[in-house]
Amino acid sequence: MIEVGRLTRCEQSEIPSEGFNCVAVEKRTDWLLCHRCGSKSLATSHFLPASGKYYCPACIHYGRLTTTDYLVWQEETIAPRNITYRWEGQLTVGQKKIAEKLITVYQDKRDSLVWAVTGSGKTEMIFPIINHVLSSGGRVAVCSPRIDVCRELFPRIAAVFPDENVLLLHGNSEESYRFSNLTVCTMHQLLHFYHAFDLLVVDEADAFPYEGDEMLHYARKTALKKTGRNLFLTATPSRFLSQSLAADTEILKLPRRYHGRPLPLPQLIWQNHWENCQNYFFKKQLIQLLERLIVDSFVLIFCPSIAYMRQLYQELLKVYGESELIAVHSEDPDRKLKVANARKRAYQIVLTTTILERGVTFERVSVIVIGANHRIYTKSCLVQIAGRVDRKGEHQNGELVFMYNRKSGAIKEALAEIKLMNQLAREGEEGGM
Ligand SMILES: [Zn+2]
Repeated sequence: MIEVGRLTRCEQSEIPSEGFNCVAVEKRTDWLLCHRCGSKSLATSHFLPASGKYYCPACIHYGRLTTTDYLVWQEETIAPRNITYRWEGQLTVGQKKIAEKLITVYQDKRDSLVWAVTGSGKTEMIFPIINHVLSSGGRVAVCSPRIDVCRELFPRIAAVFPDENVLLLHGNSEESYRFSNLTVCTMHQLLHFYHAFDLLVVDEADAFPYEGDEMLHYARKTALKKTGRNLFLTATPSRFLSQSLAADTEILKLPRRYHGRPLPLPQLIWQNHWENCQNYFFKKQLIQLLERLIVDSFVLIFCPSIAYMRQLYQELLKVYGESELIAVHSEDPDRKLKVANARKRAYQIVLTTTILERGVTFERVSVIVIGANHRIYTKSCLVQIAGRVDRKGEHQNGELVFMYNRKSGAIKEALAEIKLMNQLAREGEEGGM
């Protein structure tokens, strides 16, 4: 029952003689400290009178831990191994420089952050460092706050390391835990690990829900071995992410997209009535725009909320048939199937909330953001959405449209960042700051 680098709950009488252990929830005068999730809570509010125990409310979702529970784990010693590494693609000059630098920074025992514009091929750049760490006997986790991103990463990574029996873990995964030297998981899953990884790759490091979630930050820190290192990947670093980095973190920039074309700058379309999707003028303008775009591409429409998306879907159904139009959101039970169908281009128009902002690649796509000034659209979110356009294939005519009725700070910052990355790409400034 004692796992390497993974926490298991047990009673005091069950603590094994080998390995490490600690009390799960510690009572300190009038408050509780949980050693699994790092949360502090008030003792009096989390008391179980029947048993006289206290419990941690913050991570109860993962199985209740109390003041009489113990957490046990084992630590491992590592030895070099032979790794089957099967990747036949070619890195661009800029990617290669970063891939090599990641290995030297790791050997130097420092963290790194790769700021790579959307569509620059971030994933390929991490294969060499993963191979390096595995070959030296180390254990690697590639994680992301988003399940969709994990699902996309898993088959790509598993194909490159075919003998590693890569494990995919997330809240809805069919597979249960087993030891693997190479794990792809959501950030939440890191709560169950302890001093497990030599390298932790955090993809989409600025995405919700990781950003600002103290429990997930604690989980990331404790899942790493004491000698372990972080590698953060982002297409658009937030202020929060930049501030949370260790001072000696190596920051590497890749402004050039894989196909060499710049990120599209949005066309800003003023639409005073977007908040009411039944408004005549709004609908007229949107439909004119759709008619123009669907001639040449498939259209993704981002909506600021699920309720709004549903309303707009009903309005558009008056013009387009059910076979041309689909709506998909984060709580949609059929979302996996719908996204897969959308990628096969079964529809002309896809309405969505921000679930499709990251990690999903479509060909021949144009994008409309309705209400781009809505508070849900942060700078990172808008830049990510821009990256959906013209990501794949030969199609270069994808358009990006922001419909708005106030120029928000996020819109201004997104425009500035897109211009900066495009300028750096033109100047060929790759590989460092
Ligand atoms: Zn807890």
